[in-house]
Amino acid sequence: MKVLVVNCGSSSIKYQLVNMLDESVLAKGLVERIGLEGAVLTHQPEGKNKVIINADITNHSIGIKLVIEALTAAEHGVIDSMKEIAAVGHRVVHGGEKFADSVLITPAVMTVLEECIEMAPLHNPPNIMGINACAEIMPGIPQVAVFDTAFHQTMPKYAFLYALPYEAYEKYGIRRYGFHGTSHKYVSQQAAELMGEHVTNLRIITCHLGNGASIAAIKHGKCIDTSMGFTPLEGLVMGTRSGGIDPAIIPFLMKKENMTTDQVDNYLNKKSGVLGVSGVSSDFRDIEDAANSGNERSELALEMFAYRVRKFIGSYVAAMGGVDAIVFTAGLGENSISMRDKISNGLEYLGTRIDPDKNNVRGKAQEISVEGAKVKIFVIPTNEELVIARDTRAICSNLA
Ligand code: AMP
Repeated sequence: MKVLVVNCGSSSIKYQLVNMLDESVLAKGLVERIGLEGAVLTHQPEGKNKVIINADITNHSIGIKLVIEALTAAEHGVIDSMKEIAAVGHRVVHGGEKFADSVLITPAVMTVLEECIEMAPLHNPPNIMGINACAEIMPGIPQVAVFDTAFHQTMPKYAFLYALPYEAYEKYGIRRYGFHGTSHKYVSQQAAELMGEHVTNLRIITCHLGNGASIAAIKHGKCIDTSMGFTPLEGLVMGTRSGGIDPAIIPFLMKKENMTTDQVDNYLNKKSGVLGVSGVSSDFRDIEDAANSGNERSELALEMFAYRVRKFIGSYVAAMGGVDAIVFTAGLGENSISMRDKISNGLEYLGTRIDPDKNNVRGKAQEISVEGAKVKIFVIPTNEELVIARDTRAICSNLA
């Protein structure tokens, strides 16, 4: 069985064709600049040269059509016909409270996804466009939605509710939802496997540290708390997002700077985080380089980032009554040796420390804590596409 994994952004489509017999990736690629000048499809078939296709890609349907053409092309294709694609798995950012698991997409599911647009105005519309495009180009092929929010639906009410008047939750669904759930689920299961334990016996803290960053407390296989909230703005300091701030800053700034709601939204989502503090970049590689050359605000931004992660780790140890493993994943977590070192510096009270030799690793699943550490620390590359492909297969194999 071959599953096409699709992740649609407002102007992009990321895809992977996975052979579920051995979970190998047959081809992957990216359509960029949809609806803009200079739109391009970069297609990477396994074991063959990368192909770059420039085209007028005015919408997601044309993008998906090009992806199918690339996958079935004589020279750089990996399948003979579209019929070989047994199912499509879509990453969908927000499933609200309706979905605690992945689902087969039906008209009723689409209605709920539409209802969730209000809560994820940037993310759900392109996800929906991708689903509609696939339905149009690949009629009859089952499609599955895999939600970023689903894994976090096990949080208890006292953890997911904000202390606002209760009507805010009842009327508008204002509560903590959490994101990156597919990644937190995957790396926690991988950590359990590396420990030779079942995930239901463990308390794990997973740190998904990329441009967007979140942390989750996973007790006995279930998420009990996570740092992102009603939107992906809350929690950790991020590339361009502020993470948690005193909410009173918002009306204060709006008055002082005469900002509209859109402007303040942009300020917190696009101009803050390590970019805002350093004034250098949102990319941690640039900030690490600047800090190494003596740029004090870059050094400060990195310290603030690490301190916030360390504080969350401490609070999640308290929330779970202990911890057995801490996992680093995503762009920064998988690759930044110095950031992992900075975050872990001061966790000795938990009975753990990073082994500098073991920590000298990038993008490979490995334990990095010292021999005999009470709490194991791991680097585990995330693989959200694989989780989407697995869920899609599980749901579609049950179809008559
Ligand atoms: P992601 O959002 O998971 O793709 O992560 C992207 C971020 O990972 C980039 O903005 C970089 O800041 C960071 N990153 C990737 N590679 C490295 C590296 N070798 N060292 C430090 N940071 C890195």
